[in-house]
Amino acid sequence: MTRPEHGVVLGGGWAGMLAARALARHLESVTVVERDVLPDGPRNRRGTPQARHSHILWSGGARIVDELLPGTLGRLLAAGARRVVFQRDLITLSAIGWQHRFPSGEFAVMCSRPLLDWVVRERVLADPRVTVRPRTEAVEPLGGRDRVTGVRVRDVADGSWSSLEADLVVDASGRGSRIRAWLSGLGLPPVEEDAVDAGMAYCSRVYQAPPGVAAAFPPVNLADHPEHEPGRFGSVYPQENGRWIVTLAGTRGARLPTREEEFLPWARALPDPLVADLLVRAEPLTPVFVSRFGANRRLYPERLEQWPDGLVALGDSVAVFNPIYGHGLSAAARGAAALEAQLREPGPGWAGAAQRAVGEGLDDPWIMATSKDIGYVDCRARTSDPRLAGGASDRHRFSAFINARALRSPAVSEVATGVVALAVPPSELGSNRFLALLSKDEILPELSGPPLRPEELALAGLPARNGHTAPAGSRADAGPGEGDSTSAASRTAGRGGQPS
Ligand SMILES: Cc1cc2nc3c(=O)[nH]c(=O)nc-3n(C[C@H](O)[C@H](O)[C@H](O)COP(=O)(O)OP(=O)(O)OC[C@H]3O[C@@H](n4cnc5c(N)ncnc54)[C@H](O)[C@@H]3O)c2cc1C
Repeated sequence: MTRPEHGVVLGGGWAGMLAARALARHLESVTVVERDVLPDGPRNRRGTPQARHSHILWSGGARIVDELLPGTLGRLLAAGARRVVFQRDLITLSAIGWQHRFPSGEFAVMCSRPLLDWVVRERVLADPRVTVRPRTEAVEPLGGRDRVTGVRVRDVADGSWSSLEADLVVDASGRGSRIRAWLSGLGLPPVEEDAVDAGMAYCSRVYQAPPGVAAAFPPVNLADHPEHEPGRFGSVYPQENGRWIVTLAGTRGARLPTREEEFLPWARALPDPLVADLLVRAEPLTPVFVSRFGANRRLYPERLEQWPDGLVALGDSVAVFNPIYGHGLSAAARGAAALEAQLREPGPGWAGAAQRAVGEGLDDPWIMATSKDIGYVDCRARTSDPRLAGGASDRHRFSAFINARALRSPAVSEVATGVVALAVPPSELGSNRFLALLSKDEILPELSGPPLRPEELALAGLPARNGHTAPAGSRADAGPGEGDSTSAASRTAGRGGQPS
C-alpha cells in the first residue's frame, strides 16, 4: 500500500495514546476514538478501573516512552513521581528472603496511574495532528479479510452509528477488546489464545502519608513464604502529593479484605509487620478498591496466515499479565515502538509485520509471568506454549535459583533487575557471560530483617529492629550503575518481577 495518511486509534488509554503518538510521527492525521470523556487532568475515570490500584512503570518501558515523547520522564518527576532505583531505593521481602539494597542502572517510576496517563495524554494531544472523539464507541472494523478500511462507531450520547474511514486502524481498546470477534467478522479463522490464571486479585487504598515521608521513605514490597499457599503480597508505594498507595494482593483463595476494617488486620498477617506499621501512621483517603483482573491472557494474531492490511492491535487488547509483575504498561510501550518502527518503511504487508513485531515484544513479559504463575496451586492454565508444558519445570527451578542468588549477590541482582525491568532479554540469564558471573560473584550474608537505615526508621517513626538495620554508609549508599538487582525474587514480593 501507499503510505497511510489518516489513522484511527480505538481507545484513548495508555496504549492508545502511545499508538497515537507513533502514528502522528508518520501520518497526516490521527483520530482517537474513546468511549469516555478524557479528563483534563490526572483523574480517575470509568474506562480504566485498574487506575485505582498501584501502577509502576519499569525503566524498560519508561525509556521507550521518553523516546516516543522526549521529556516525559522529567515531567512525571516534576509532577511528583518518584524514580525508584531497584533495589537500592526500596525494601523487599521476597518469598524466599530479604533483598539487599544494591544499586543499579534500572528503576521504576512510581506515581498514581492517573498521573502517568495524564502526562502522556497531555503531550500527545498537544500535537494538532491528533484529535479525540470522546463518548464514541468502536463497534466493528470496516472492510474485509484483505484490508480494513475504517471503523463503525456509536455515539454514546444518542446511540447513533456512523463510519470513520481510515488507512490504518489500531485497536488499543484494552482488556475488553472485541478483536477476536472482529477478526472472525472479517472472515479470518479464530485467533489462538492462551490463559494462565493463578486467581490473582488486588485490593488497594490511597493514604496520606505523614508529612515528608512518602517522598523519602523506601517503597515496601512484602511476599509470603512460598510454602504458604495461596500467595499473599503487600506493598506501600509513593504517589504524588505525599500519598501512599497500599495494595494487598493474593492468589486464588487468599480471601482479600474488601471492607475497610479488614484491611489493616490482613496487612498485619503478612510475614512482616512493616506494611501494617506504616498504615497505622497514615490517614486513609479512599475506600478499598478491589480488582480481580489478575489472569495472564495472550492472543496470537501474529500466527494467522493472513492478516488484513490497515489493522494493528496492541496493549491489553492482545495480552494482559498478572499485575504483580508490573509489565502491562511497558509491554504496551513496546507495542507502540514496534508500530512506529514499521511505519518508517510501510511496504507491502507492513501491518502484518507490525503485528508480528508487537507479538515479539510481548513474549518476555508473557513467559516471565506465566512460568511463575503456573506453579501456584489451583492455577488454571489453557496454553499451547511448549515452554510451559509440565507446569513448574526446569525453567522455574533455574528461576528460583537466580532469585535466591540475586537477593545477596550484587552482580546477579543487576542482571536479574535488567530482565525484570524489561531492559535486558531473559536469554541473558542463559548466556556464558552470566554463567561465568555465577561462579565468581560476591555473595553477601543473608538479611534477617528489612534493611532500613536509622534515618529512615526515624523519618517514619518506626522502632529500631535489632540486627536488621542497614548501617549508614553500607552498600545501600553506593551510587547507581554499580550493579544491582531485582531479584526476580522481588516479584514474588509484590512488584519486582521474576526472570524465568
Ligand atoms: C490491578 C492492576 C494493576 C496493574 N498494575 C500495573 C503496574 O504496576 N504496571 C504496569 O505496567 N501495568 C499494570 N497493570 C496493567 C495496566 O493497567 C495495563 O496493561 C494498561 O492499562 C494497558 O493499557 P491499554 O491502553 O491497553 O488499556 P486501558 O488502559 O485499559 O485503556 C483502554 C481504553 O479503551 C477505551 N475503550 C474500551 N473499549 C472501547 C471501545 N469499544 N471504543 C472506544 N473506547 C474503548 C477505554 O475507555 C480505555 O480508555 C495493572 C493492571 C491491573 C488490573
